[in-house]
Amino acid sequence: MAIQQIPVRETFLPFYRAYLDDDEKAEVLDSLDSGWLTTGPKTKRFEADFAAYTGQKHAVAMNSCTAALHVAMVAAGLREGDEVITPSMTFPSAVNEMVHERITPVLIDIEPDTLNMDVDLVESLITERTKAIVPVHFAGHPVEQDRLRALADKHGLLILGDAAHATESRFRGRHVSAWEDATAYSFYATKNLSTGEGGMLTTNDDALADQARLLSLHGMSRDAWKRYTEAGYKHWDIVTPGYKYNMPDLMGALGLHQLRKLPSFTAKRQQLCQYYDAAFADLRDYLVPLQVRDHVDSAYHLYVLQIKSENLTIDRDGMLDGYQRHKIGIGVHFRALHLHPWYQENRGYRRGMYPKTEYASDRVVSLPLFTALSREDQDYVIEVTRHLILSHRK
Ligand SMILES: *Cc1c(COP(=O)(O)O)cnc(C)c1O
Repeated sequence: MAIQQIPVRETFLPFYRAYLDDDEKAEVLDSLDSGWLTTGPKTKRFEADFAAYTGQKHAVAMNSCTAALHVAMVAAGLREGDEVITPSMTFPSAVNEMVHERITPVLIDIEPDTLNMDVDLVESLITERTKAIVPVHFAGHPVEQDRLRALADKHGLLILGDAAHATESRFRGRHVSAWEDATAYSFYATKNLSTGEGGMLTTNDDALADQARLLSLHGMSRDAWKRYTEAGYKHWDIVTPGYKYNMPDLMGALGLHQLRKLPSFTAKRQQLCQYYDAAFADLRDYLVPLQVRDHVDSAYHLYVLQIKSENLTIDRDGMLDGYQRHKIGIGVHFRALHLHPWYQENRGYRRGMYPKTEYASDRVVSLPLFTALSREDQDYVIEVTRHLILSHRK
């Protein structure tokens, strides 16, 4: 029997839409009225609130997570020739910054059920040059942090976490930052807490925080907020050649209110993920969802399915075309870093080096997942997914 075609919706359903309401609008208008646009009182308040939220002593706001990762590595003293272990199943930010600093990335394969780095493989990659590990808490599910922390302590390594997906995540009841020496967060347009562009670095280490603060604003001894006060003009000195990574108050204004709403966002995302899981439960031969372990609190950043193309006459890219035809916005998190042309041509990576990563890299799609996703729109995504799968069974 022919399977019914599904009517195409009228409007495009985006992969992500940030949830911003009157609180954010009023706060941004307040900044505009005040005439203070760059880093100032709102970003400072956002930093204080974020430090409290994550339970860390210091939070340094920046204009991206990429910037926070870069600053973390430089502030921690990593330098040319040092080796850093990090997964290939990630966004290129941390590894690109390693290339800029001539730090040697040492890529690691994943565990298939969470797509997180496989902590069991870490020890085999440690050499006398290894200085740090950059775990990525994929889709908001923390890596196995107790075992990773124990390994890092045993070998004297730093853990600089890429928590771009994991602002809310906890491992054994403790925020991801509690297990790490420094942690970088993203507030990019599609992240759970969104300021459009933005990031944060948290740490309990006073010296690392001081250095990060310095590096994030040119290496200047005094930031603008402190320079232009009623106390009078103060000269500034360049004490190290830093970067221009500070977060403007217009972004801080958004962050203040997004942070307050984050617990309600997370609860909604969890519900949406569970609804997707239930809707695909009978299709496990074709669609593999991410597992969530009992001892973690996930941030449910992404709803990722792996398309088991070996059991279908359609592959992941065919699915992407199908979603496109039905006006559904889809993400791919991620095509493995070691399969990208620059890394293949300049670092000698080849297919076959990280088999589990490659298996996932070829099969992942991320379905629409955002606070304001309606039941009707989610049902449409489910219907189209089921149709594409059921009409392509081998
Ligand atoms: C989004 C993302 C980043 C980069 O965040 P920016 O704030 O855009 O720099 C880094 N790592 C991962 C895993 C990400 O998903």
